[in-house]
Amino acid sequence: MDEERNLVERGGGYVVLLIVTAVLFFGWRTGLVGGLGETEGQTAVSSTSSLATDSLAANAADQQPTFDFATGDLPVISDNSLDPNPNPHTFQGERPSHAFQMYVVKRGDTPNGIAERFGIKTETLLGGNPHLSQEASLLQTDMELVILPIDGVLHDVQPGDTLEGIAEEYDVAVEDIIAYADNHLEFPYRLYPETQIMVPGAVREVFVWTPPDLASVGGTSREGSGIKPLIVGTGTFQYPVGGRNFSQFYWYGHPAIDIALGEGSSVVAADTGTVTYAGWNVYGYGNLVVVNHGNGFETFYGHLSAISVTPGQIVYKGNVIGLSGNTGNSSGPHIHFEIRVNGVQDNPCWYLGCG
Ligand SMILES: [Zn+2]
Repeated sequence: MDEERNLVERGGGYVVLLIVTAVLFFGWRTGLVGGLGETEGQTAVSSTSSLATDSLAANAADQQPTFDFATGDLPVISDNSLDPNPNPHTFQGERPSHAFQMYVVKRGDTPNGIAERFGIKTETLLGGNPHLSQEASLLQTDMELVILPIDGVLHDVQPGDTLEGIAEEYDVAVEDIIAYADNHLEFPYRLYPETQIMVPGAVREVFVWTPPDLASVGGTSREGSGIKPLIVGTGTFQYPVGGRNFSQFYWYGHPAIDIALGEGSSVVAADTGTVTYAGWNVYGYGNLVVVNHGNGFETFYGHLSAISVTPGQIVYKGNVIGLSGNTGNSSGPHIHFEIRVNGVQDNPCWYLGCG
């Protein structure tokens, strides 16, 4: 009996199993049971999307560089995209760095002597020392001079300066300025205010003060377009002082002669003429007398301690016009004496003989 029941139970089990199998099979065919079908569909989709991904990756590979090097070799790319204040002036050039010798002027020094000692042109003393070209008396004892290493001008860079402008100002080639190594000029040749640029071969222009003409002095009359002086000189000149102790001769930066002598010594007119200036001069001459000789010549007498003539006054050759002194830019009592021909400073020694 046990065996029969077992058979029946076993047979019922088969039937149940058969029914379940049949239902599953039917359901699969009609889609009522979606489990298997969905799973298979997903597999298919996922397979397709995998292909699509591969295809995109292939396209991307065409457009972007492939990085197949070791991580340690990765290039460092600075990214300042988050910088709140990006600086458009990314060029940071080197600033000029010049090395100079300094020289302290001693008693008895002459510009020519100093220049010769350092192997530069006398004009180059002006190139390194701009204040000198604005003074009527050049060298003062204990004054510190910048000695440039080569002939040229040391230019103080001003805001707005350009290389082209500087080259034009000194009449030199832009390339010569760039080529000077210590200027540290690299493309795009940025200039920095408050630095100095060496301008090789340049000569600094000398400031020339011009006295008023005879018309503004008074007591003069006009004839045609010209101005008639009150008197015409002899055309020859005598020394304005008794001494011959020259402290500075004529050169580009000092178009005059300096004669050292005790303060209060008499200074006389070198030739007959009309006084056109008698007073203080702010350009370094101190107390100054200018005489116009009516023949194209003018004479200048600087650094006086006293003046004894007035503008418009006639003076004759040898008349006292004042006393020697140490006024203005002066390194000691001396007379600064200029002879100008039609406004151009000439070497007084050519007229006086300084030997
Ligand atoms: Zn002088």
